[in-house]
Amino acid sequence: MKLKFTLLFAFIFSTALLKAQDSLMLRKIYDEELVNGQCYANLHYLCKNIGPRLSGSPNAQKAIEWGKKLMESYGFDRVFLQPVMVPHWVRGAKESGMIVIGNNRIPVAIAALGMSVATPADGITADVIEVHSLKELDTLGAAAIKGKIVFFNRPFDPRFIETLRAYGTAGDQRFAGPAAAAKYGAKGVIVRSLTESIDNYPHTGTTSYDKDGIKIPAAAISTMAANQLSSLLKQKGSSPVQFYFKMNCKTLPDTLSYNVVGELTGTENPNKFITVGGHLDSWDLAEGAHDDGTGIIQSVEAVRLLKVLGYQPKNSIRAVFFINEENGDKGGEKYAELAAKNKEDHIAAIESDLGGFTPRGFGFSGASPAFVQNINLKWKKLLEPYDADRLTAGGGGSDIEPLKAKSPGIVLIGYLPDSQRYFDVHHSANDVFENVNKRELELGAAAIASLMYLIDQHGLN
Ligand SMILES: [Zn+2]
Repeated sequence: MKLKFTLLFAFIFSTALLKAQDSLMLRKIYDEELVNGQCYANLHYLCKNIGPRLSGSPNAQKAIEWGKKLMESYGFDRVFLQPVMVPHWVRGAKESGMIVIGNNRIPVAIAALGMSVATPADGITADVIEVHSLKELDTLGAAAIKGKIVFFNRPFDPRFIETLRAYGTAGDQRFAGPAAAAKYGAKGVIVRSLTESIDNYPHTGTTSYDKDGIKIPAAAISTMAANQLSSLLKQKGSSPVQFYFKMNCKTLPDTLSYNVVGELTGTENPNKFITVGGHLDSWDLAEGAHDDGTGIIQSVEAVRLLKVLGYQPKNSIRAVFFINEENGDKGGEKYAELAAKNKEDHIAAIESDLGGFTPRGFGFSGASPAFVQNINLKWKKLLEPYDADRLTAGGGGSDIEPLKAKSPGIVLIGYLPDSQRYFDVHHSANDVFENVNKRELELGAAAIASLMYLIDQHGLN
C-alpha cells in the first residue's frame, strides 16, 4: 500500500512539475515575442522592399533569397532550398471591363483570374447571363449559354460564422465555373469576387481549366460591380445588357523555383520533424501581407523564438516557406515528395495561411473526438491565458496537405486566427502591410511557437 501511495504521489508531483515547466516556457515565449519580436519588421521588409511575388516572377526569386538569408542570420542549424518547377502566369497590361447598354458604357473594376487565358486583342463583347451555381448552369445548358458571357453571382453565405466556410462554398464558381461554362459554348466568364465586403476591389484567385477542354477568359469583378450588373439585368430595358472585357494575361513556360527550409536539428530524434510553414508566393495585385506574408513570417519567428530562448528541441523543428500555393501547389508537393524520399518521419505539420489576425487556436485535421478531448485536457489550460486555446477538429492547409499521403502518422494542424476580416483583403489590392496589426501578428507567432514546444515535449498521442 505504502509503495503504491508513494508512486502515485510521485506521479502527481511530476505531472504538476511538468505543467509548471510548460507554463513557464509559454510565458517566456510570449514575453520574448511581445518585447523583442521581429515579425512586424520582417513583414514590413517583405511587403515594402519585395512586394507581390507570384510564382516564377523575379520578385518570387528575391523573396526566396531574402528568406534564406533571414534564416541564416538567425543561426538555424540547417538552411537549404528545395528546387521545384512552378507555373509562371503573368497578368500583362492591366485589364479593363465595362457594362455596355446601347451607347451607355459603365467602366467596372475587374481582375483576370489566375491562370486565365487572354481575350482577343480587341476584347470580347457579349450578352450577359447571370447564374448562381454550377447546377443552374447545367440546367440552362448550351441553348441559353452559347455565345454569352456567364456571370457567376452567388454571394458568400453570411450564416457561416467561420468565413473560410463561406469561401469554401462559394469558391466553386471561381475554380470550376469558367471550365464548366466553356463546355456550353460561353465566350467568357465573370465571377463575383469571393468576399463579403461590398467594395470596388476585384479579388483574383486561380481558376482551373479542364486539361483538354476549351479555355475561355475569366475575370473577377468587384462586389459593387456585381450588384450593379445584377440590378441592371433585372431592369429589362430596350437594349440588352452586355459586358465588354479585355485581358492580356498569359502562361509562360514553367520556371525553376524553390521552397526555403530552416531547421533546428533535434537533440534526441534528429530524423523526426515538427514543421511549420506558410506560402512564400502571393498574388500580384498587392503585397501578399495577410496571404501569406504573415504565415511565413510567423513560421520563421516561431523557430527563432525557440532558438533565442536557448531551447534545444528533442525533435527537429523546421520553418518552411512553400512556393506556389496560389496557382499550383508545386512547393507543397515537392516538400512531401522529398520527405518521403529522405525517409523523414514527420510528427506534425502546422500551416499558417488564414491571415495574421487575432489568434483563436488550432485545428487538427481529421481528428477524432477522443483526440480532441485528450489534446484539450493536456493543453487547453496552458493556452487559455493567451486566448489561443480553441483546439478543434478540422484544419490543415494546402501546403502541408500532400504530407498526409507521404508521411503516415503525421498530424496536420491549421493555425486558426479570427476569420472575420480575412476575405476583406484576400487576393485583392487591399492585402497590404498597413492592414496587419502588429500585436495580432506577434500573438500568433507566440501561439505557434508554444504549440511546437508542447508537441516537441509531449508528442501528440
Ligand atoms: Zn494563402
